[in-house]
Amino acid sequence: MIELPHFVIDGTKAPKHHLDRWDPGRYELAVAYIIRTLVGGFEVSRALEQHLRHKALVHPCAPHPHAIAWASADSADDATPQGEYQRSSRDHEWTPWDDTGLPSRDNPTGTGLGSAGRIAFTPSDSQRPNAPIPRTGGAPQYADAVFVHELVHVVRFSHGVFTQLRFDPDRRRSWGMENTEEYYAWMIEGMYCSQRGIPVRRSYHDWSRQRFEDNPRGRGNPYVGLQHYWVERFFREIPTLARALASIPEPRCQFNPFRDYVTGDYRRSSTIRPVYSAAHPIAARPPPGPPIPSSDIFD
Ligand SMILES: [Zn+2]
Repeated sequence: MIELPHFVIDGTKAPKHHLDRWDPGRYELAVAYIIRTLVGGFEVSRALEQHLRHKALVHPCAPHPHAIAWASADSADDATPQGEYQRSSRDHEWTPWDDTGLPSRDNPTGTGLGSAGRIAFTPSDSQRPNAPIPRTGGAPQYADAVFVHELVHVVRFSHGVFTQLRFDPDRRRSWGMENTEEYYAWMIEGMYCSQRGIPVRRSYHDWSRQRFEDNPRGRGNPYVGLQHYWVERFFREIPTLARALASIPEPRCQFNPFRDYVTGDYRRSSTIRPVYSAAHPIAARPPPGPPIPSSDIFD
């Protein structure tokens, strides 16, 4: 086990796909190296690390069909804002309730106290055999950027502000963001990639490369309007972190929605396009069934 100021790294539990040749000490050193590089080398990830209110546990994991890494809160109630419902993470057609505002439990259980969190992460999965792993469409997957994404989730758990809402209230329109927590994690991961000089992926679901184009409509551009709205919310939730991120200047971090918010300069914008689909019906209440696990997992 390696202990750093904000992290505990425990490599003792070998992931299933590495059982034959697993070395806990080597894993812990690899993760510690990534964390030290993130904290020492880049303002985006340093600001995140400095805003962790609880130590985060980092442990190995085996990839599952949807993710190679994920974050989980020790107490989902404490990670959720006071008086708010925990919301289901997805908005797929086969779930009768979702993140449109309907509760995944009968009573609001959020305390807003903040929760410790865990990051399931095996860096070698993003480093072998031909790492960084190219994804369809373009943006390669770097282990350190994967870690930064999960770190955003854990920081928001620790501040008790984690709440998964629809990125766009219009149910017919999607921007590949899954929900607002994945939007924030994607966005700050993108800021890190921008500062590190590696490609930014276009959205949570779109692995093509982010581009910028002239935006004569300013905040009248629907995507930019949504960006402004959600960044404003982040400023209310964790103001000192939002200000620290906004202060990173353009030469060091071109992709910076926090700076856009502060300057109000939206003359250039990300090239994110909406995807339209038919709205699907929502049930008023969750169906009877097994209870939602108290500690959900977010990839
Ligand atoms: Zn995520």
